[in-house]
Amino acid sequence: MRQLNPSPYIGRFAPSPTGPLHFGSLVSALASYLDAHHHNGKWLVRMEDLDPPREQAGAADAILRCLEAYGLEWDDSVVYQSQRWDLYEKYLSRLRKQDLLYPCDCTRQDLQTMGGIYNGRCRHRQINTTQAHAQRLKLYDLPTGFNLGEELRFTDLIQGEQIQNLRTQAGDQILKRKDGLYAYQLAVVVDDIEQGITHIIRGSDLLEVTARQIFLFQLLGAPVPTFGHVTLASQPNGQKLSKQNLAPALRFEDAATNLWHALIFLGQKPPQELLEYSPSEILMWAKDHWTLKNIKGLSAVYTPLI
Ligand SMILES: [Zn+2]
Repeated sequence: MRQLNPSPYIGRFAPSPTGPLHFGSLVSALASYLDAHHHNGKWLVRMEDLDPPREQAGAADAILRCLEAYGLEWDDSVVYQSQRWDLYEKYLSRLRKQDLLYPCDCTRQDLQTMGGIYNGRCRHRQINTTQAHAQRLKLYDLPTGFNLGEELRFTDLIQGEQIQNLRTQAGDQILKRKDGLYAYQLAVVVDDIEQGITHIIRGSDLLEVTARQIFLFQLLGAPVPTFGHVTLASQPNGQKLSKQNLAPALRFEDAATNLWHALIFLGQKPPQELLEYSPSEILMWAKDHWTLKNIKGLSAVYTPLI
């Protein structure tokens, strides 16, 4: 067993089980793992299985087996969002009691008419709540004491200073969907609060939703974690490596080679001879040599392995 120092650092990797891990997800997992271990912190794994229609049977187990094969061992038990609905409801009712939520029965078409950013149409409408409706979070018209402004600034460990305008970029967010499922934005923040996450190192595709998550941390009176968004791996044609684009699944037998290439991608300059070592030995080297600032200015093109 690894000796845990009483370090305040708790990081996490939170994949959705919509398919097997690919090189792009390895880069994110590895960066969060190494940053946590470099700081003698904990590294947790959370399965974001919130949306059953999008999931693939067996994918959650396949992801965990793959992390094991790559030597990316996690601390504590894996958390499954599908088992935490009571918790999400608890937080939702807290927001409701603070008068921060309102029902909305707008359709996808209504949203299109608004130009894609919700304009707060239902804030002052009477909604028939016996019919299917979503729950939205008030972004403005907030009760007294919640005036957090529209512009949110934060420093990303990798991408630097960020300014996001919640009114023009986000609008009032859905926290519970019309179909009764909890929204990703709610679940992810609730879980980060409950698990005491202090550092979130993840793919830069989530950079644009960070301000709305920070806003939610603030409304819930919780400490805001430190964020770092790793540049995404893309294919030479510029297309993002993703499950949707059918990026090839990571093969267990290529663990050492893929880890080495992921370290190159993350700017860590692993020595060539490291390729001969086992995944756990490669990770040992990488933990000691981990430098987050090397990720900056990185080319996002991923050259496929031979
Ligand atoms: Zn509405």
